[in-house]
Amino acid sequence: MTDTLFAKIIRREIPATIVYEDDDVLGFKDIAPQAPVHVLFVPKNEAIPTLDDLKPEQAPLAGKLMLAAAEYARREGFAQDGYRVVMNCREHAGQTVFHIHLHLLAGAPLGRFGTPG
Ligand code: 5GP
Repeated sequence: MTDTLFAKIIRREIPATIVYEDDDVLGFKDIAPQAPVHVLFVPKNEAIPTLDDLKPEQAPLAGKLMLAAAEYARREGFAQDGYRVVMNCREHAGQTVFHIHLHLLAGAPLGRFGTPG
């Protein structure tokens, strides 16, 4: 697996607050939260740098990231209030870690998004 920061977290070589784990997905708190709840969901067993690198046969993995976020939201009790999931791809989206990950943001009404700048 490519040696990204998240690969090191998956291997428990650097600490993170892990809040979700199944066979394929690890969820841990973002170190610089942008909302009261900010969790990152990453594939544990495949190193995929960006969404643009995802192959059709890896579609189930993308679904597992979404389902992990939804399960976590239900488990933690904020599914009904609502939440947002985001995946940044490359420079214009501000991607900084090149191991695909889904951001889950929740815990308060969220501002709108997608404006330039
Ligand atoms: P991206 O900007 O690539 O979509 O998201 C990367 C995320 O990783 C950022 O939200 C950033 O705050 C988070 N992050 C960066 N370094 C660390 C770290 O060492 N630990 C944790 N838990 N999150 C990190």
